[in-house]
Amino acid sequence: MAVSELQAHHPGLNGTNGARPSPETRPAGGSAVHALVLNASMEPLCVVPTRRAVVLVLSSKADLLHAGDGHFRAERMALPAPSVVRLRRYVHVPFRRRAALSRRGVFLRDEGRCQYCGRPAENVDHVVPRSRGGPHVWENVAAACQRCNAHKKDRTPDEARMTLSRRPYAPRAAFWLLVAVGTVDPVWRPYIKDVIAP
Ligand SMILES: [Zn+2]
Repeated sequence: MAVSELQAHHPGLNGTNGARPSPETRPAGGSAVHALVLNASMEPLCVVPTRRAVVLVLSSKADLLHAGDGHFRAERMALPAPSVVRLRRYVHVPFRRRAALSRRGVFLRDEGRCQYCGRPAENVDHVVPRSRGGPHVWENVAAACQRCNAHKKDRTPDEARMTLSRRPYAPRAAFWLLVAVGTVDPVWRPYIKDVIAP
């Protein structure tokens, strides 16, 4: 299987080719919408619609590691809706690029928390303000709440006597797949640590 085959089913790319669940394959109950796909090496590869993960499992291309809520019925069997699946064969990932910087990505990396005070974040703060030559890069942006953002103004954290809870970093390329989904299922966290962390 090629990476492109998986990515063709990524919601952001909205592909419709390839195998699909049979018409009688349908979610029952409140199943998760997306599943995390791990490479055979356990490295996170991408996020696909749950239905796509069902196909991977039913076609023996992947094993179910974690089930979410609900079941998919296919012919005479019911499969727990996958939350995490692992490919049986290793898929070579040709390029490792940096994930593109986006507001959504910053919020996801910082878990929606202000990096100064821990409250829910509403803004993206440039640690070294843009007016002071601070670049618009992962290492210079942090999620921040309205209050901290207003307090900091055009100052560096040192000048404003504010402390970042952790140093901003650039996530790895596979991160964009998570960004496209927007939320991270808590059961994915142990598997995607290396993608989100430096
Ligand atoms: Zn704050």
